[in-house]
Amino acid sequence: LSHRTEGFTESIIRKMTRICNQFNAVNLSQGFPDFDPPQQILDRLKEVSHEGPHQYAVTWGADNFRVALARKQSKLMNRTIDPDSELVVTCGSTEAMMAAMMTICDPGDKVIVFSPFYENYTADTILSGAEPIFVPLHPPEFNFNVDELEAAFKQKPKALILCNPSNPSGKVFMYSELKVIADFAEKYDTFVITDEVYEHIVYKPYVHTYFASLPHMFERTISCSSLSKTYSITGWRLGYIIAPPHIIDVAKKVHDFLTVGAAAPLQEAAVVGLNFSDDYYEELQRHYTEKRNLFIKGLENLNLAYTTPQGAYYVMMDISEFDSRDDNEFCEWLAQEVGVGAVPGSSFFREDVNHLIRFHFAKKTETLHEALNRLSTLR
Ligand code: GLN
Repeated sequence: LSHRTEGFTESIIRKMTRICNQFNAVNLSQGFPDFDPPQQILDRLKEVSHEGPHQYAVTWGADNFRVALARKQSKLMNRTIDPDSELVVTCGSTEAMMAAMMTICDPGDKVIVFSPFYENYTADTILSGAEPIFVPLHPPEFNFNVDELEAAFKQKPKALILCNPSNPSGKVFMYSELKVIADFAEKYDTFVITDEVYEHIVYKPYVHTYFASLPHMFERTISCSSLSKTYSITGWRLGYIIAPPHIIDVAKKVHDFLTVGAAAPLQEAAVVGLNFSDDYYEELQRHYTEKRNLFIKGLENLNLAYTTPQGAYYVMMDISEFDSRDDNEFCEWLAQEVGVGAVPGSSFFREDVNHLIRFHFAKKTETLHEALNRLSTLR
C-alpha cells in the first residue's frame, strides 16, 4: 500500500462519533447541526426532485449557482468576483482544500499549518506530496508568536493554510494578525490557502475579515469555503474555491479529474440560500450566539475551565483537574460513563498538548441541556 498514506491516521473526529453511537452518548464531537436547514431550501429541493436537473452540472459549477455565489461573496469580500473565471464549485470545502493543495504544490514543497489545526490539513498536505511546517497557536488565547511564524516563512514554504474563524480553537484572527501574515506572504512570496467555512459564525464584537480582501492579497490567496455551516447542509457537500483566474484555470482541471462536479440537484436547490437577504446571516449569528452563551454558561456553572470562542461552533475545555492519563482516555471515559462525546484535543495539536478536549454546540437547545445535565455528574 502507498507509503504516502502512512503519514496520517484515520479521522479521530469520525472515530469519536462511532464511539458516541456505541454508547448512546450525546454527540458533541463531530461538528454538524442536529436541526433542519432553512425551509425555503427544503421546499426548493422538493421541486428540484421533480423538475431536475439530475444529470451533471457544468464541471466547475452550475451557471446560476456561480452567479448567485459570486454576487454574495463579492459584497462580503469587497471586490467583484467573476463567476466564470474566479470561482470553482467543489464537493465541500474538503475537496476545495485538497484541490487547492494539488493546484499549487509539487512533491517536496513545504506548507505552513497553524497548530491546533483541523485534521484535514496534514492529510491534504501529505497527499499532495508536500510537507507541513507547524507553527503553534499558544493556548489559552491561541495567539501566534511573530518570530516563530517568520522562522517558518524562512524555510521557503509554498503556502500557508489559514483557518479563520478557526476550528478547533474558536479564534477569529484580528486584522493586525492577518496583516502580519500578509506581509510575510508578500516578503517570502507564498500563497495563502484559507478555510473560511465559519465565515458567518462570529460572535460580537469580533468580525470576520476575508484574507483575500487585504491589500494585494487577492493575487496570492486561494479562498476555500462551503455552504455546509452557513445553511446547515453539511451532507450536501457544496463548497467552492475563489482565486485569481490563472489559479482557477488549474484548479478547474484538478477538480474535474477528482470529482467531475458537485451534485447538480443540490446546487440548484441551494441557489435559494445564496440569494437570502442579509437578515438571514444576522439571524444565524443570533442563533449561534444564543447556543454559545447557553453552553459556556453551563460549563461556567459547573466550574469547568474553557476558552470562550470568538467564532465557529467549538469550545476547548481544560481537563487538567481530572484524574485521567490523557485526553484520549478522558474522551472515551466521558462518552461511555458520562454519556457526552468530545474530541481529544491532542488530535488537533502538533505539540504535546493533551489537557484539552473539544466540544461543539451546533445542537438544539434541548440537546445542549441534556449534554450539560450529563456533564453535571462530573461534579
Ligand atoms: N468540521 C466538522 C468538525 O470539525 C466536521 C468534520 C467532518 O467530519 N467532516 O467536527
